[in-house]
Amino acid sequence: MGGDERDAVVVGAGPNGLAAAVVLAAAGLSVRVYEASGEIGGGCRTEELSLPGFRHDVCAAAHPLASVSPFFARFDLEARGVRFVQPEVPFAHPLEGGRAVAALRSVEETVAGFGRDDARAYRALVGPFAESPRALGSVALSSHRGLPGGAARGARVVVAAPRSVTSLVGRFRDGAPRALLAGAGAHAMRPLDRALTGGVSLLLTGLAHGVGWPVVEGGSDRIVAAMAAFLAERGVEVVTGAPVRSLRELPKCRAVLLDVSPRGLLALAGESLPRRYAAQLRRYRYGAGVCKVDWALDGPVPWSAEVCRRAGTLHVGGSLEEIAVAEDEVARGRHPERPYVLAVQAGVVDATRAPPGRQALWTYCHVPAGSDRDMGEAVAEQIERFAPGFRERVLARSVRTARAVEQGDVNYVGGDIGCGLQDLRQTLARPALRWNPYRVPVPGLYLCSSATPPGPGVHGRCGELAATCALRDLFGIRSVGLGPSPGADPVPSRSSR
Ligand SMILES: Cc1cc2nc3c(=O)[nH]c(=O)nc-3n(C[C@H](O)[C@H](O)[C@H](O)COP(=O)(O)OP(=O)(O)OC[C@H]3O[C@@H](n4cnc5c(N)ncnc54)[C@H](O)[C@@H]3O)c2cc1C
Repeated sequence: MGGDERDAVVVGAGPNGLAAAVVLAAAGLSVRVYEASGEIGGGCRTEELSLPGFRHDVCAAAHPLASVSPFFARFDLEARGVRFVQPEVPFAHPLEGGRAVAALRSVEETVAGFGRDDARAYRALVGPFAESPRALGSVALSSHRGLPGGAARGARVVVAAPRSVTSLVGRFRDGAPRALLAGAGAHAMRPLDRALTGGVSLLLTGLAHGVGWPVVEGGSDRIVAAMAAFLAERGVEVVTGAPVRSLRELPKCRAVLLDVSPRGLLALAGESLPRRYAAQLRRYRYGAGVCKVDWALDGPVPWSAEVCRRAGTLHVGGSLEEIAVAEDEVARGRHPERPYVLAVQAGVVDATRAPPGRQALWTYCHVPAGSDRDMGEAVAEQIERFAPGFRERVLARSVRTARAVEQGDVNYVGGDIGCGLQDLRQTLARPALRWNPYRVPVPGLYLCSSATPPGPGVHGRCGELAATCALRDLFGIRSVGLGPSPGADPVPSRSSR
């Protein structure tokens, strides 16, 4: 792996590693990227997992975060050929009795079926988060060190973020709005009474109204392909099938950016890390895992509730109380009988994902960390509850247990797709308690994975912020234009090595 010199080396070609490489290359540096897997993309790939002709997003499928990412705005994904396509209904939540509740693009249409008090409560609670989605994105997708996007708006997010789903829903009388917010909050992969689950719910629901929850036409891998094309134009070499086991294997360079988990950082650089920092990395906590199940269907899912047939994403788990039980079980290390299931049916707006008349369905459910249990039957059972006849549509299914998810990408420790528990402490102090989370306290070394703020999701911000920091520290470069709309990068500037 050694050999010729580079200005910078990036280890890991997930969305954040690639974003870091894009920023470094845009600054005119010579860069090389090493990726363990045979393919680039990490959590942003698309493959024929079930049957030929069925293109499944291997990991990320729904892109509200990419839609408001200041990095992707500057990089201008759309100008580079990535087409976000909008399901008419961003997300829906089937309920017993053939009913459903859904987050529609307009807050008013969403509350049309609610009682008067619930409609008023929903407007007051979620409305402000739907108003300025890009500003919301710039606050949520920041380094969490300061208040970008305007102090007032920033303050609203900061005040709401620590709340739990349970604390939000007390104001609603009916089960439908409570279930809607619980389904969105369960993305945090934690019991619904824990801090931050409410903040996650408000962020994701606000974005559903503000920008929708699009999928990428052709597959999420188009996002990665756009970054790879940019790198190829600038002569950046991306070496695949190249797991890096020690920093000593890397060529001589001034900056090394690691798109790895804290566990990966310890493995790569353990002996050179200061003792206190290494101890913090060892204490870093990982969250629950997921079991991913992809389905080849001979037609659309026969949801009983019509609105579910038009939705891109579905939260399948019944009432708030049922989802709360499922998430509690997972947190206690047990497999729920009725798991909370996330489903994405990209085919409602993207005909390229499956042969004519057929559907590729993406699902996962939460499981205890490190689980090796195949949850395919439990997922089918949950969908069948709200879409009788689902099983008859199944042509094939492909299952990856939580353990297999980690085998496919070592950053997902125990199958934790967030690369770290999303509690309040680890949202602010990711991966350790430091003013600048991107600088590893070893000269020239930076962490750029989703184990740094702003955390999980396909938004490229961890990579962008880490690379911006390295450029400033080591090369004296303060601002880089990425394309049509260059902008300033708000990274922590105080020195804290
Ligand atoms: C099942 C699943 C569903 C998801 N759904 C969504 C979604 O719908 N929307 C969304 O926004 N996000 C979603 N996510 C989360 C999103 O995919 C991740 O947050 C995002 O990919 C993190 O990007 P990253 O670059 O930090 O890490 P990763 O994408 O994990 O990439 C890290 C890369 O580094 C490589 N690597 C690690 N260590 C080494 C090493 N030592 N040597 C060489 N290479 C190495 C890995 O092989 C990998 O390719 C999902 C994730 C999963 C797994």
